Amino acid sequence: MDSFQSLTQLRNLLERKQISATELCEFYLDRIARYDQRVNSFVSVEPDEVLAHAKMADQDLRKGNCKELTGIPIAQKDVFCVRGKPTSCCSNILRSFIAPYDATIVKNISQAGGIYLGKTNMDEFAMGTSNQTSAWGPVRNPWDLDRVPGGSSGGSAAAVAAGLSPVATGSDTGGSIRQPASFCGVTGFKPTYGRLSRYGMVAFASSLDQAGTLTLTAQDAATMFDVMQGYDPQDATSVSASNFERNRMQHPLTIGYSGSLLQDLDSDIVRCIEAARDTLEQLGHNFVDVEVFDQDLALTSYYIISCAEASSNLARFDGVRYGSRANPVATIQEMYEETRSQGFGDEVKRRLLAGTYFLSNNSGENYVQKAQKLRRMVHDLYEKLFEQVDIVLAPATPSPAFRLNEQHDSTDMYRHDRFTVPVNLCGLPAISLPCGQINGLPIGVQLIGPKYCDEDVLNLAVSFQSETSWHLDHPEL
Ligand code: GLN
Repeated sequence: MDSFQSLTQLRNLLERKQISATELCEFYLDRIARYDQRVNSFVSVEPDEVLAHAKMADQDLRKGNCKELTGIPIAQKDVFCVRGKPTSCCSNILRSFIAPYDATIVKNISQAGGIYLGKTNMDEFAMGTSNQTSAWGPVRNPWDLDRVPGGSSGGSAAAVAAGLSPVATGSDTGGSIRQPASFCGVTGFKPTYGRLSRYGMVAFASSLDQAGTLTLTAQDAATMFDVMQGYDPQDATSVSASNFERNRMQHPLTIGYSGSLLQDLDSDIVRCIEAARDTLEQLGHNFVDVEVFDQDLALTSYYIISCAEASSNLARFDGVRYGSRANPVATIQEMYEETRSQGFGDEVKRRLLAGTYFLSNNSGENYVQKAQKLRRMVHDLYEKLFEQVDIVLAPATPSPAFRLNEQHDSTDMYRHDRFTVPVNLCGLPAISLPCGQINGLPIGVQLIGPKYCDEDVLNLAVSFQSETSWHLDHPEL
């Protein structure tokens, strides 16, 4: 079997009985065993259990009980709770934590027949851009093993790019789906905030976190979105379908494009982004020049808000309620201090310290309030923009994948997120699509839509991929 069959193709093979679910799962388990020592994209896989589920799926397939994902193996980012399975967020503090329930999106996938393939590696607590902060070691980019896959959903992106799983879930707080998708040459979709439940997804920054997918094609992202989405009373920010009826966009679309976004980028990247624009123009869409919000100001707002929310969310990891506890300790104070000092890695500590400082009165400045004002400005600007255009086209990342250990300064690393964070600040849907290669390394372009226009973004992405073949290029391992 070809290692890079899309979900749509696999469903066809299964329905026509050209392959069984057992054979399919064996195929991916075999590839994981063969290649993942080099890539390190998975942190846990239980082959026997996968095969037991595949057997049940085969019975369903034989009886003609075919649901959307029956027999399809799907990797879950280690940020999602899967009942009875380790859910570590790739942190030592949760190394021994076993999830007592399924996250809603995990439940939705398994109710649609999807088979849980294993947990993928990620930056610790989803904080990162390179997947180097994982307690399970860095993930390597399948296109060049000396390079990073991006982060924080680097394990999911690398697993799909390497043909170790046809589909993987991810989470995107400031770009963690779209950025690794760009670095690994796969399709990364981050839906509108609220359309996929956050219940059972370990929180980083709750007002920004959003689940989504890494897939080989935009069509697969659409299939997964259909399965995973829906109102969930267990998530207070989940959105009910009746609240977001919108007229679907009509062809041809008006697409906003900002030349100033490309100003400080290498000419190779500009060439790829312009080629993507040309493709969409050939499809009949119209482009207009737009001004977007200052990327660096959006970045400042993002890092203040996300660190502040993380400081509050991660206070629960105290050695009492979840995960590991430092031992022996003399006092309760020492227990908190030791547990957190030993359990969290450097990047998480850095952000928790910064976040706590931003939230404290002692700082004298009201950082969080100012950051929220900036966030409101970015939001208003996008609202205005979408009165004028249907979609905005933007780069996904300012460069292709960088080398492991190449970025030493964390603020340099943070600047890599400047094209993705504005989308999270506004809760918009956006997709990153492979749109070219630079010295053999993939690069992505983003399509950003107005809130609740997820289907329109996906439709445009599908038609983009009908005219391009970058998503059909795969690395050799
Ligand atoms: N790279 C960003 C950060 O480190 C985004 C992370 C994310 O989306 N989870 O905060």
